[in-house]
Amino acid sequence: MNVIDIINKLYSENDASKEELLYLLDNINEEEKNLLIEKAHETRMRTYSNKVYLRGLIELTSFCKKDCLYCGLRRSNKSAERYRLNIDEVLECVRKGDKLGYKTFVLQGGEDAYYTDDVMVEIITAIKNEFPNNALTLSLGERSYESYEKMFKAGADRYLLRHESASKELYESIHPGEPYEVRFNCLKNLKEIGYQAGAGFMVGIPNQTNEDLANDLRFVKEFEPAMCGIGPFIPHKDTPLKDYPHGSLEKTVICLAIVRLLLPKVLLPATTALSSIDKNGRNAGLKAGGNVIMPNLSPMSVRKKYSLYNNKAYILDEDAEYRRLTEEKVKEAGFEVEITRGDNPDFRD
Ligand code: SAM
Ligand code: SF4
Repeated sequence: MNVIDIINKLYSENDASKEELLYLLDNINEEEKNLLIEKAHETRMRTYSNKVYLRGLIELTSFCKKDCLYCGLRRSNKSAERYRLNIDEVLECVRKGDKLGYKTFVLQGGEDAYYTDDVMVEIITAIKNEFPNNALTLSLGERSYESYEKMFKAGADRYLLRHESASKELYESIHPGEPYEVRFNCLKNLKEIGYQAGAGFMVGIPNQTNEDLANDLRFVKEFEPAMCGIGPFIPHKDTPLKDYPHGSLEKTVICLAIVRLLLPKVLLPATTALSSIDKNGRNAGLKAGGNVIMPNLSPMSVRKKYSLYNNKAYILDEDAEYRRLTEEKVKEAGFEVEITRGDNPDFRD
C-alpha cells in the first residue's frame, strides 16, 4: 500500500476501503496532502465548478435537554445563557437573509421541548408561504419519525444531523445515556422521508483515533448524505472536555478533501468552527473541496448566548458588512458566491 496510490484510487473510483483510509490518515506527508487537496479541488470543479453557496443560519434556541460532553449548550451547564426565538423574530431573520441573497435558511438549535411539532409546523409554513422559492434546512437534533415527517410535509427541505462519530464506543462516551443506534436510526428516517439529509462529524474529539475517523469516512461513503458537516472539536470552558486541545486544521482539511473525493456531489461546508481555530480556515476548507458557507443571521442580542465552543469566529459581525466581506474573500480565494438554493444535484427538480 502507498499513499499516492490510495489518493489516485479515491480520485478515479471515488472509493477506498477502511484499511486504505486508515493507512492514508496514518502516513500522509505534506507533499501528499497537497496532492490530495488538488484532487479534491479538481473533483469539486467538475461537479460544482467554482460556486460557493450561502446558507443563512438562524440559531433558534439555546435550551437543550441533551448533555453532550463537548457542547456549551448541554443541560448541565448552569452558566449557559438560555433564549428562544419566537415566530416573529424568526421571520425577521429570514426577511433580512433573503435581502442579503441567502436562498437557504437553516434553523438550528438545542433539543428544546418548546418547539413542538405544531410550533415547528407553524414556523415552517410561515417561512415557506413568504419565501416559497427558498430552501429551508432544519437542525434540531433527534425527533420521532412522525415529527420529521410532519415538518417535511410542512415544507422543510433538508435536515442536518451530524452523526458525530461512527464508532459506537466513542459516540457513547461523549453522549452519556444516548444509544448510538438512535441517532443512526434518525438519519435513516430522514432519508426515507425524502429530506436532503446531512451527516457529519467532529475531528479531534478527545481520545479519537485515526481508526475512528476511518469509520466516519466509511459511514459517510455508505450512507451517502446530501450534505456533510465536518469541523474541528473546540473546547468550551464550562464543559467536562474544557482542558482538551481543539482538533487540528490540517486533519480537518484532510477529512474534507477525502469526503469530497468519496462523494463528489456532496454539499460540504467550510464550517465556522474551522474559521474559529485559524483565520485562514475557511479558505483552506474551500480549497479542499468545500462549497458551502453558513453566515450567521441570528439577532445580534442572542449570538453570544449560542455558545457551543469558545472563540467562535465572526460572532458579532454586522450582517450586510459580513455578506460583502464574504463575497470579497471568496473571490480572492478563486471562487464565486452563487445566489441560488444550491441543492445537491441528485435532488434538483
Ligand atoms: N442540537 C442539534 C444537534 O446536536 O444535532 C443541533 C445543534 S448542535 C449545537 C450542532 C453541531 O454543533 C453538533 O452537531 C456538533 O457537531 C457541533 N458542536 C457542538 N459542540 C461543539 C464543540 N465544542 N466543538 C465543535 N463542534 C461542536
Ligand atoms: Fe444539545 Fe446539540 Fe449541544 Fe448536544 S450538540 S448539547 S444536542 S445543542
